[in-house]
Amino acid sequence: MVAETTFTTKAAEETKRLGQALGKVLRSGDTVLLSGDLGAGKTTFAKGVAEGLGVTQEVTSPTFVMVAEYSGGRMPLVHMDLYRLGDAALDAALTDLGFDDYLESDAALLIEWPQSLRESLPDALLIQVNTAPLPRVDERNFQCRATGLNSWQLLDEWVKQWLF
Ligand code: ADP
Ligand code: MG
Repeated sequence: MVAETTFTTKAAEETKRLGQALGKVLRSGDTVLLSGDLGAGKTTFAKGVAEGLGVTQEVTSPTFVMVAEYSGGRMPLVHMDLYRLGDAALDAALTDLGFDDYLESDAALLIEWPQSLRESLPDALLIQVNTAPLPRVDERNFQCRATGLNSWQLLDEWVKQWLF
């Protein structure tokens, strides 16, 4: 089973397809944490995940609402963006958002800018999106790490879905 892997994409469309592959194998209770600088491609990837899940609504960047919930797919998709929250404010804000209820719901969670949330989740798929050095402006590397059994299985299924 794969615990760590890196995917490379050469265009925004390919990042979308990579997200679609994950969306196709995503299950209720899966938690995916997306890190990377502004413009790295986190939201582009998230759009693909939603499509792969069968969500037909358009996914936008939830930066100003922090959490958006999409139905219509195989299961609800909860998309969060914690960018505006510093680590100090994170715990209180997550309580306000009802984060634990989301965790226990049948939704899959996709969280941009998780910051210190990483440390408090026992089992999540961590994805770090990095740009490549110039002149490879349209290349992105998706460095993925599973931290528990559930996310290991997810990463495994994703790799198979992407390769075959
Ligand atoms: P983030 O949510 O991480 O801030 P976005 O997905 O909103 O990033 O924006 C990524 C930007 O980078 C888009 O303008 C997209 O067209 C561009 N881009 C270029 N190459 C890629 C790639 N391989 N994958 C994703 N985005 C890419
Ligand atoms: Mg974004």
